[in-house]
Amino acid sequence: MGTARRRELMNSGPRRPRAFTQDTAQILAVDKQTKQLRYLPAGEGNGEMEPGVTWRGHVAQGMLLCPAPDCGLPFGRVVAGGARRHHFAHRPGEGEHDAGTGPETLWHLSAKDVLCRWAAAHPGLADWTLHLDDTPITLPEGWRRPDVLAVSPDGGKVAFEVQYSALTGTDWKARHDFYARAGVVDIWLFAHHGPQWRAATPRQRRRRELVWRDPDWAASVQLSGLHQTMLRHGVVPLWLDPTTQMIGTATTRIRPANTSPGERLWEDAAYTLPPRRTFPACHIAADPLEQCDVDFAARELLTPARRVHREERDRLQADEQIAQERAARVRAQLRTQQEERTRLRRAAEQEKRRAIAARAAEEQAEREEREQEELRRKEEERAAAEAWQRMPPAQQFPPMFEQEPPPPPKPPWWKPWQRRA
Ligand SMILES: [Zn+2]
Repeated sequence: MGTARRRELMNSGPRRPRAFTQDTAQILAVDKQTKQLRYLPAGEGNGEMEPGVTWRGHVAQGMLLCPAPDCGLPFGRVVAGGARRHHFAHRPGEGEHDAGTGPETLWHLSAKDVLCRWAAAHPGLADWTLHLDDTPITLPEGWRRPDVLAVSPDGGKVAFEVQYSALTGTDWKARHDFYARAGVVDIWLFAHHGPQWRAATPRQRRRRELVWRDPDWAASVQLSGLHQTMLRHGVVPLWLDPTTQMIGTATTRIRPANTSPGERLWEDAAYTLPPRRTFPACHIAADPLEQCDVDFAARELLTPARRVHREERDRLQADEQIAQERAARVRAQLRTQQEERTRLRRAAEQEKRRAIAARAAEEQAEREEREQEELRRKEEERAAAEAWQRMPPAQQFPPMFEQEPPPPPKPPWWKPWQRRA
């Protein structure tokens, strides 16, 4: 999936302030008259709270109080300028609770308020009832009171747990199992600062799954043992930034293990997926809370990033299917080639054997013929020897010299005219 499509899915809607900057700007105030929580929308610091009443004016009258449980002082001013999100601020020297344990409670409060506002405005939860901190889920072995409980008209329950303090994986698992036994969908949201938010170290950022980073992803955080336990049980960790009302989804860009070395590394061969359970860190894909839905079938909060994860998982599965088919095809081809080679080799071997056998037969025949010849020669020699034995000695031993030829006859004496030789 291209960057454009990702951006379209993950960051549609108006431009927002950057989320997960660990901004501790206070956006909630308690109205002194009604004791209700008032929420300062983004960019509205110079606007009107109600027709005729400006935020600044109301604050100037000391009518908006700090909601931190151990504070309660009226805010001194509205900060509405510069790059930061518009927020309430104490007078100098007041409201020293930002450094202590107070803000945790304050942020817990803010997160719950933001969640309630979202759930109340969510079209999918239109006729649901919301319970803030007041309805326990009871089972025979005990009870738990979720931070925000949404109950559908037909009794379906969604428990939102906002976790700012430290929590072990074992405790989380016990609570998760408790909700599962009670038939409640539990959605866990971690803090945007504090013990649940540890920025990834430079060394972790250099890890293969973190090197590639979408420009829209807000930050990189470490995955604690708790987060890894969640991943082991198929729950993708989510973070909530109540200041910007953004939900952060744990995200990484994973390259499948079987990628061949020559393949292009990130753009096409990598998939935007939740981190694996062994990863020490991940990116945070930030999405506006109002674009999130509760997925009851999957028992999770379906953020735009989770939608991307599902598309990417399908793409990965399709690609793996294609790769497997291709591998099977290649294997089959190789097998055919191998068989063909084997067949040819066997044929060649048989041919060779046949040739050897033919040559051997030929040689044998030649040898036999030679032997016959030898026998015949010996036989002839023997016969000759025997014939020789049978010959008369005169013939056996012929005279060594030719006999003198007889002298010419002498002319008779009465023919003296014939000259003597
Ligand atoms: Zn305060």
